[in-house]
Amino acid sequence: MKKFIQGMLVTGSLLLFAGCGTENTNDGSDASTEENEELMITTSFSVLGDIIGEITGDRASVEYIVPIGEEPHEYEPVPSNFARVSDSDVFYTNGLGLEEWLEKIVANASDTPIVDLSAGVEEIPLEGEDAPDPHAWLSPKNINIYVNNLLEDLIERDPEGEEEYRENAEAYLNEIEELDEWIVEQVVEIPEEHRKIIVSENAFKYFGKDYGFETEGVWEINSHEEGTPQQINRIIDIVSESGLPAVFVETTVDKRYMETVADNSGVPIAGEVYTDAVGEEGSGAETYIDMIRHNVEVFVDGLTSD
Ligand SMILES: [Zn+2]
Repeated sequence: MKKFIQGMLVTGSLLLFAGCGTENTNDGSDASTEENEELMITTSFSVLGDIIGEITGDRASVEYIVPIGEEPHEYEPVPSNFARVSDSDVFYTNGLGLEEWLEKIVANASDTPIVDLSAGVEEIPLEGEDAPDPHAWLSPKNINIYVNNLLEDLIERDPEGEEEYRENAEAYLNEIEELDEWIVEQVVEIPEEHRKIIVSENAFKYFGKDYGFETEGVWEINSHEEGTPQQINRIIDIVSESGLPAVFVETTVDKRYMETVADNSGVPIAGEVYTDAVGEEGSGAETYIDMIRHNVEVFVDGLTSD
């Protein structure tokens, strides 16, 4: 972020960065060379990128900023990200404070509208803070809110696409409903006293509230990530006394913290789960629906083992 600001001061213009390419975006195509009038959409991270793509179909070019494998809480944007956002018709964010780092700079650097897709979600506060937890997307029960906000905005920007957007949204929300029903069936397999998800970042609160899990993390949110000895010792105590057969680790977080927790509590890490990014190509979790399915399978396997 610092580097970019320095660059701006030196050059005095964002336009100079416009030819820098889109190496951190998802589809590798250079939308600026396309001559049709498809909507140009940028979003902050891969999970929203997937959901948005499901609704826009071929009517838009959708790219996201934070690369898979990195987390969106403190990502440092590169100049090409700003060029992409500046050129876009709209920048879709999660909101709930997730992309504050980016929204401020985008607002200063371009007049691209920023639309918060989580607007209307019933917020869960961060523990001990006067701010919401941003991870609302991790509960499929919130996705209809995201999709309806998106749908409304897309129709406003591209009225000719209304029918297609509505059809896509309806089909997608049917899949989300099936996913939701499947999760409810899966959770029944887990003994009630084992319905607790412990990971590095306490990101499963929305999921936990909707599907009956307690949650804990070494830390509350990645932007406050410290992994201090106090935080680690606290969670080691909780895990040791929990009677749980398993803990978990995220694909986007340094695994050493949970490894230390597992080593010191004797409770193994049952697997990797997806929170702040979808899976890489070939992971089987390249889409939002597949990443949630994967998570639930890992939870069920881990928490039903003896
Ligand atoms: Zn997170």
